[in-house]
Amino acid sequence: MPTLRLAIVGAGPAGIYAADILLREAHGYDVSIDLFEQLPAPYGLVRYGVAPDHPRIKGIINALRDVLDRGVVRLFGNVRFGEDITLDDLKQHYNAVVFSTGAIKDADLDIPGVDLEGSYGAADFVSWFDGHPDVPRTWPLDAESVAVIGNGNVALDVSRILAKHADDLLPTEIPDNVYQGLKTSPVTDVHVFGRRGPAQVKFTPLELRELGELRDVDMIVYDEDFDHDEASLTAIQTNKQVMVMNRVLNQWREREVGQASRRLHLHFYAKPLELVADERGHVAAIRYERTRPDGQGGVEGTGEVREVAVQAAYRAVGYFGSPLPGVPFDERQGVIPNREGQVLSEDGHRLPGVYATGWIKRGPVGLIGHTKSDAMETVQHIVNDQASWWTPEDPSEEAVPNLLRERGVAFTDLDGWHNLDAHELALGEAAGRERIKVVPRDEMIDVSLGRTTASTS
Ligand SMILES: Cc1cc2nc3c(=O)[nH]c(=O)nc-3n(C[C@H](O)[C@H](O)[C@H](O)COP(=O)(O)OP(=O)(O)OC[C@H]3O[C@@H](n4cnc5c(N)ncnc54)[C@H](O)[C@@H]3O)c2cc1C
Repeated sequence: MPTLRLAIVGAGPAGIYAADILLREAHGYDVSIDLFEQLPAPYGLVRYGVAPDHPRIKGIINALRDVLDRGVVRLFGNVRFGEDITLDDLKQHYNAVVFSTGAIKDADLDIPGVDLEGSYGAADFVSWFDGHPDVPRTWPLDAESVAVIGNGNVALDVSRILAKHADDLLPTEIPDNVYQGLKTSPVTDVHVFGRRGPAQVKFTPLELRELGELRDVDMIVYDEDFDHDEASLTAIQTNKQVMVMNRVLNQWREREVGQASRRLHLHFYAKPLELVADERGHVAAIRYERTRPDGQGGVEGTGEVREVAVQAAYRAVGYFGSPLPGVPFDERQGVIPNREGQVLSEDGHRLPGVYATGWIKRGPVGLIGHTKSDAMETVQHIVNDQASWWTPEDPSEEAVPNLLRERGVAFTDLDGWHNLDAHELALGEAAGRERIKVVPRDEMIDVSLGRTTASTS
């Protein structure tokens, strides 16, 4: 029976679901899959994006782990596509490649002052509090008042982690340095700004409601934002999610506030104009324009400019994909250009053997579950495209590990990940917690390769 040798680049949910679906779909040939991941740990944003106090979502890792543990997929961790291995290498050893490299960077926000000291991207902060090895281990948490720009779930994650008392995060898997950092935070007020009204937010009800359950945090909403126009009323009446969120927000309007030591303010109809600097060039305020409904579900400026004093600002206006060496990239959308997962060249022609799935295929929107339907579509094309697969010179399974060894790449494998996973669980158990993440990359690799079991994290 012929064998499909497939390389998948990126071990987030999209890549792992693609492997899973292909293993079920392949008929008439064997499948052998190598999964390349730049980090020593798999699971992408499920490990390094989903907030640590969302254990139910983090639990999706169990299903992803089952796919890896089935014993058919080989994991090559700590291998970065474009540096440790290239597209030409993959053509030598595989019949096809799927890129599932996701997105880890913040989308730009083009307002004056965005480069000031004290202005941060949400993605960087998320990477910090989720223990990503490639960001600094300390985070400047010295602001009493903070602005968060954006009205999606990432803005809620950032606001919640900033407003929550560090001790309430202790039962989670947050790394020790993150707990220590958050413990020192003097924050009293977190202000969330959204351009549009409460009936147009991109939050989901569960995540919004959760804010109201934070200990010692008052939710502050402003009556002036609830003078709904026709389009908003229609949205509230016809969309169940909007209806539920409207109910939650209205409950907060009725709540007595004033006792809590921290406050989380939601400012709607507030379009950020500028981050204002103090004499040191540090964020001192956010200036915004009050907007109003335009009667068609959108907003227009009113010309009224307001200012709130803050000492830090986080922009949570979306993620953006990164280009991969030798692979076409759409600079405007931040994705690999493709038609249903079949990668296209810059002039719109299909590149045989090259596929994409997940956030790098359709952009950084949607939940983990959406990457499954994505993967289904891409895999269907791989299966149907058998006639145009690459013909590799050396498809043997030893060729790639040998190549990586020749290049001096300290790659890890699935057993290595099991070592690291068990080590993190043991660190957690010793501290009465479920898991404590290892953060430094060197330490992750050492533990994976069995070089040490001592923890410094
Ligand atoms: C802050 C945040 C919170 C979220 N919370 C939720 C939630 O609560 N519920 C939910 O359903 N969804 C949530 N999501 C969305 C969810 O994380 C995504 O839908 C999903 O992770 C996208 O999967 P992916 O595999 O396409 O990308 P990713 O998860 O980003 O995985 C991509 C993988 O590719 C690897 N990679 C990148 N470049 C290279 C390279 N050059 N070489 C090798 N490997 C590479 C990365 O290291 C990563 O492991 C959240 C997203 C964010 C940003």
